[in-house]
Amino acid sequence: MLLYNTMSRKKETFEPRDPGKVGVYACGITAYDLSHIGHARSAVVFDVLVRYLRFCGLQVTFVRNFTDVDDKIIARANREGKSSTEIAQTYIDAFHEDMDRLNVCRADIEPRATEYIAEMQDMIKTLIERDHAYAVPSGDVYFRVRSFPKYGKLSGRDVDDLRSGARIAVGEEKEDPLDFALWKSAKPGEPFWESPWGKGRPGWHLECSAMSKKNLSMPLDIHGGGQDLIFPHHENEIAQSEASTGKEFARFWVHNGFVQINSEKMSKSLNNFKTIRDILELRQPETLRFFLLGKHYRGPIDFSFEVLDDNEKGLKRVYETLRDADNALKRPSWKPGAIAPEWLEEFKNLKSSFFGAMDDDLNTAGALGSVFGTVRLINRLLEDKSSKNKEGCRDLLAEFKELAGAWSQILGVFSQPPEQFLLELREVRAKRLGLDVGKIEELMQQRSHARAEKDFARADMVRGMIADMGVEVRDTPSGAVWDIA
Ligand SMILES: [Zn+2]
Repeated sequence: MLLYNTMSRKKETFEPRDPGKVGVYACGITAYDLSHIGHARSAVVFDVLVRYLRFCGLQVTFVRNFTDVDDKIIARANREGKSSTEIAQTYIDAFHEDMDRLNVCRADIEPRATEYIAEMQDMIKTLIERDHAYAVPSGDVYFRVRSFPKYGKLSGRDVDDLRSGARIAVGEEKEDPLDFALWKSAKPGEPFWESPWGKGRPGWHLECSAMSKKNLSMPLDIHGGGQDLIFPHHENEIAQSEASTGKEFARFWVHNGFVQINSEKMSKSLNNFKTIRDILELRQPETLRFFLLGKHYRGPIDFSFEVLDDNEKGLKRVYETLRDADNALKRPSWKPGAIAPEWLEEFKNLKSSFFGAMDDDLNTAGALGSVFGTVRLINRLLEDKSSKNKEGCRDLLAEFKELAGAWSQILGVFSQPPEQFLLELREVRAKRLGLDVGKIEELMQQRSHARAEKDFARADMVRGMIADMGVEVRDTPSGAVWDIA
């Protein structure tokens, strides 16, 4: 499998450090607010990476941290008269709830910063001993950036350029404006831990160095997060980890792109912030996940409800085909005989293009292209008079179902029973249009009564009333059904 490595700026063949086993570390959230769509993207990207590595037979240990002590958490705790621990727990629970809805697997290990204070202090002590860090009279400890010549290697930044743009803030006792805090002395009203440098708390960057080293040995196979973390967060993690151990920190660096909202950067000041919960109010979680997979993970993705609704239509098409294949497979008898070899050939090509795309730097957009190609092929097959009743068709449908099982295992979509998904989609669309499902059902009953009594004028009138609501009625061998396009 090829994977783009931010460190080398190219795609490289991914091989685990130890055969058969992979350690993946991704930076998690700072638990002070509800997660937004940018968090959803990062979580889905790393979920698919881990799922695919597992699908390929590798034994993956996935670690994703929670930052549970931080300025923003403390500020919110003080504002709400709660402890930082309570605030962090509230938003960690909310994160789990949102991610469960998006079918994002829990990480194997979910360390919290406050559980690793001893490990962080040990790392600081080593860095001070090796002259990579220094304590100042206020009780802060800083990393000495100029002591680590490789600083800037991940982000490609030049230390002299960075220095010319940096300033030492009032109250900081740094030797150099680029130096960053490993330990922050406690201010009044802040949670603190005892340390050789006085009461204080760890700096943000340090927690990932300590938690990844403790839970996965160095060098990590894969370290990842959003692109916004490359600098300074990941650059600082490398400096701390490599300066304190003398070992390479991570072999592969994987970063996902941003989410834009209607082509604009998402920010609180533009008031276009979208939490996962905002989006899922009138949409199914699977639609959001499917949308996030529709673009290559390294590029930006542009969110709008229009695009989301187009994705909903695409997802519906896949589920309809899965349902039709299920129904066809229930048929008790099939005509002996094979179908034309072209069907099998095309299916085989589409299947290998799915895996080819996944192997090419996790190209989920390309993989979904092959999903739709396969769905079109199966729809044609189910309509094809000379093939659809043959045993060869049945065998290909069975293979299709098996392939769809692999899609869902890898991408985390198409996993629900098709009928259930389609019913829920209908409900959610009705809710979005402000329609009363009970009322629709009632009109459907009136229409079927009228038809049973051969009062076709009345049946047509009722059908017209239903159509005026934006609802389609279809008569099938097993009765009339309604749907919302
Ligand atoms: Zn981190």
